[in-house]
Order: sequence, then structure tokens, then C-alpha cells
Amino acid sequence: MAVPKRKTTPSRRGMRRSHDALTVAAFHECPDCGELKRPHNLCTHCGKYNGREIVSVGL
Ligand SMILES: [Zn+2]
Repeated sequence: MAVPKRKTTPSRRGMRRSHDALTVAAFHECPDCGELKRPHNLCTHCGKYNGREIVSVGL
């Protein structure tokens, strides 16, 4: 089995992990009500997706 020749230093480990950070979830404005919603998901505020009402929201 291949074995690393040297121990990974804290500096090298940090450099490797510098790309591991997760980005925050993207949000877009709902075209119907203007609230922020997740892309490709129905709007949690008005219950619409692509202009059609999918879920009726009691306002
Ligand atoms: Zn909406």
C-alpha cells in the first residue's frame, strides 16, 4: 500500500482545506410576489412555481 513519506504539516493541511468551505444556498427573487426563494423550488411565500399555484397558502 502506498504510504505518505512525510507527515502533512498544519500549513499544508490548511492550504488543502482552503477550498473546502461550503457556499451559502443561492436565492432568487420570486417573480410573483418578490420574496426570496430557492431556485427550482416553489415559492414558500405564495406557493407558486413558474407562474402556477402549486400549493395554496392561507394568507
Ligand atoms: Zn412567491
